[in-house]
Amino acid sequence: MNYISLDLEWNQAYAQKALAVQKRLECRLRGEVIQIGAVKLDDDLNIIGSYRITVKPKFFKSIQRHVMRLTGITQTMLDHGTPLPEAIERFEKWCGEDFAFLTWGPDDIPMLEDNLRAHHLDGTWLHRVYDLQKIFGRQTDNSKTQRSLEFAMEHFGIEQTLPAHDALNDAYFTALVAQRLDVAKGVAAYDERQGEELFSLVIGDADAGERGFPTPEDILKHKTVTAPVCPFCSEPLTPLDKMLHSKGQRYSVLLSCPQHGKSFLRLRLVRNFNGTWRAKCTILAADEASEKDYKRRLKESATARRRRPRRSQKSAGEAKKEVADPSSTPVE
Ligand SMILES: [Zn+2]
Repeated sequence: MNYISLDLEWNQAYAQKALAVQKRLECRLRGEVIQIGAVKLDDDLNIIGSYRITVKPKFFKSIQRHVMRLTGITQTMLDHGTPLPEAIERFEKWCGEDFAFLTWGPDDIPMLEDNLRAHHLDGTWLHRVYDLQKIFGRQTDNSKTQRSLEFAMEHFGIEQTLPAHDALNDAYFTALVAQRLDVAKGVAAYDERQGEELFSLVIGDADAGERGFPTPEDILKHKTVTAPVCPFCSEPLTPLDKMLHSKGQRYSVLLSCPQHGKSFLRLRLVRNFNGTWRAKCTILAADEASEKDYKRRLKESATARRRRPRRSQKSAGEAKKEVADPSSTPVE
């Protein structure tokens, strides 16, 4: 399998224009891709090819000044760029058959997916992605801090010989960082974690044209949450404890199937472009460690809540905000 280290540059529009375009398209478009840069590596992480294309934007046509300053891409270059459908067709061909993307940080692939959706193009071939920033964190100081590519380069003593914020240069430097990491091990750890996922579904994805949920509470009333079923036998799963509410709109509850044992339903709530909510719902196999962790956090949050004074009806909004902030809260 080959690896393709990918970097994108994108253009934005001022807020009102961006909102109007997204409303018209009925999907999220926070930026429009104007440059694709990629470096191809073989199994042993030898560089075997590179790719760069400037894309002519369709929705946010005039380049923002800060984007021009950062990337060195001018309006003339954009005007002479390749329209996205053609650029993507060529890029997909260049990628080949058996490959996985390596990106620095989690943003590039979702951005590209949004762009493809806005053009009614297929984005399913983008699904195999490993975030090298995460692998770097795990394999160096084991921190979850999102380090910049410059930080990683400095860490490995890679000299910045080419200007940054050029998609190809950044993809190239990402490839150089990859060569100094144990990518195979990082990828295996990634796949292992995914293997625990028994079921996964996104509900209320307005960015993908579905109807979003007006509030997080509406998601918690949805049948995926109130009446989860076993991914193996489709029988109802019984909750074994309370729903745990963690930082960043994450929820988790321990469930049980008489035949297939314990599992977790995890929810991650995210805002859609139009202010409504969607949730990624995942069912994962439970093991001793994850069950212990869940019970500990449930207990901790119950203690924290008892210590916190009750609030009056009037400041319910404030109280709600506070609930979202501490690390975890059980939901009755
Ligand atoms: Zn079952």
